[in-house]
Amino acid sequence: MASKEASADTITEQRKMFELFVRRRGLKRSSQRGAVVDLFLHNTDHVSCEDLYSIVRKRGLKIGYSTVYRTLKLLSAANLAREVNFGDGVTRFDHNYNFNFQNHYHLVCTTCGDTVEFTSKAIEKNQKDVAKKFGFSPQHHKLEIYGMCRACRNA
Ligand SMILES: [Zn+2]
Ligand SMILES: [Zn+2]
Repeated sequence: MASKEASADTITEQRKMFELFVRRRGLKRSSQRGAVVDLFLHNTDHVSCEDLYSIVRKRGLKIGYSTVYRTLKLLSAANLAREVNFGDGVTRFDHNYNFNFQNHYHLVCTTCGDTVEFTSKAIEKNQKDVAKKFGFSPQHHKLEIYGMCRACRNA
């Protein structure tokens, strides 16, 4: 369980944003790509390309791996998805809708792989202060805290 489920309105809005982005890029509309976008938006987990492709196959959809991959890359370029890496060498894709595009951070359980998402004004401020101190102009940042989740600790 990574994040809250998006509301129907949010999903509709994000789908529209994606379609606009695709049109601006001069790409043709594709129903296969649309189906991948819908699966991604409805899935609340951090999914890898392989994860999403296996969902596609479970649904019996005739969509190739490369279409899934390219769609995830497009979602990232459209700023509707973000690539995340939780230290196991697998690139996963995070939804940007959970916190209205604000920075959010992750607690990653190294035992079961579960992730918890959180925001922190204090962390944001600290990072700005550090950047300022070193005369550094930050573009983006990320934070993952690794350890053991409550369920695993209690097991
Ligand atoms: Zn996340
Ligand atoms: Zn765990």
